[in-house]
Amino acid sequence: MPVRLARSLIVCLCTSLAWSQQAPPASSAAPTDPIAIMVGRLSLERYKATIKGLTQFGDRRQGTDRNRAAIDWIEAQLKSYGCTNTERIHYTYEPPQPGSRPVRRSSDPSVGPGGSRKRGNIFPDTVNNDPMKQPDVKLRELDSQPSTPGPREEVYCTKIGSKHPDRMYIVGAHMDGIGWGEAANDDGSGTALVMELARIFSSPDVVTDVSIRFALWNNEETGLNGARAYVDQRKDLQGIESPAGSGKYPEPRWLGMVQHDMMLYDHGMPHKDGTMSKEQRPEADINIEYQSTSKFSDQAMTLAHKFQLADDKYATDYPANVGPHMTNTDSSPFMDLTPSISLREIERGAQMGSGWDPQHHQPTDVYPFYSDDDFRLGLNAAQTTLGAIAQLSGVALITAR
Ligand SMILES: [Zn+2]
Repeated sequence: MPVRLARSLIVCLCTSLAWSQQAPPASSAAPTDPIAIMVGRLSLERYKATIKGLTQFGDRRQGTDRNRAAIDWIEAQLKSYGCTNTERIHYTYEPPQPGSRPVRRSSDPSVGPGGSRKRGNIFPDTVNNDPMKQPDVKLRELDSQPSTPGPREEVYCTKIGSKHPDRMYIVGAHMDGIGWGEAANDDGSGTALVMELARIFSSPDVVTDVSIRFALWNNEETGLNGARAYVDQRKDLQGIESPAGSGKYPEPRWLGMVQHDMMLYDHGMPHKDGTMSKEQRPEADINIEYQSTSKFSDQAMTLAHKFQLADDKYATDYPANVGPHMTNTDSSPFMDLTPSISLREIERGAQMGSGWDPQHHQPTDVYPFYSDDDFRLGLNAAQTTLGAIAQLSGVALITAR
């Protein structure tokens, strides 16, 4: 008798025995919460491998061959995960004339981006534009093709809701980077998170009531141009069935937008001399931010707390905290149209704005820089968003019988 058949017989016998004795279901058995089962399908090794895969395209600067190759690679991965209905947004990017963008800076050094207030040891948060600061000659070469103005693309795919295909949550991250490194953290870490969630939600046994769109924005680093292009092109298409009577909704109505941008590094405040702790701080947390000045501020705050509770329930190592100063990422173009939040390693305004992440836009943002304790913070953010979006979208697992 084939081994497999023998095993299934044993399973059947045990099950019928249990039923005949009317034994209560064992609480120590495998988890029956479908969301816990889905969270269990994430792994540190897979998450790291996806980030590593993205770094083969260097910094993925927008308007370069390496950026276009990365989009092709991401799309191929999404399809291989079963998120096969990939689509692309097409837009044009023309960089602004130098000096044409007004830089508004407060004279008060404690005023940070997004309405935040900086405190403690404050160090500058800068962008590296000097190739010679990249000591790895191969990587310097990989990052050397300059960006040219012109047509741009970005990719997304969608899990279609079984009950309400006309509504969706948008789960996003930006795939472009700058700074002459590998953009491993900014934002390979967020891009890999979104790709991993696309994989898990696309599993054939996963059903959701509403739709979920997994979007990998381009041109974030030039001023959120890719996300803005998406909003401009598609905000007025929300909830329209097309063709009429088809049951298809190319742009489901937006229920909320969640962005992931820099998920790995929370080593605390810089020391007085500007040096950093070498280790992830033990009390590291995921920072969920909404923007208190946005039109949907109260709904976004509620959404943020739902994510915090999902962290309590599903994240294995690190807690999450909520703040009101979401800024400088692709959730901003959405925030006056739908409840929008961002997940990050540290607060964007008060902390990143005070130099808490010295790899930000620097040649040191490379895969080998980070330890498993760093990568694990990103994995915990993936557990959090997976848990929250699964709850919000009404998930069920179809178990094969
Ligand atoms: Zn970023």
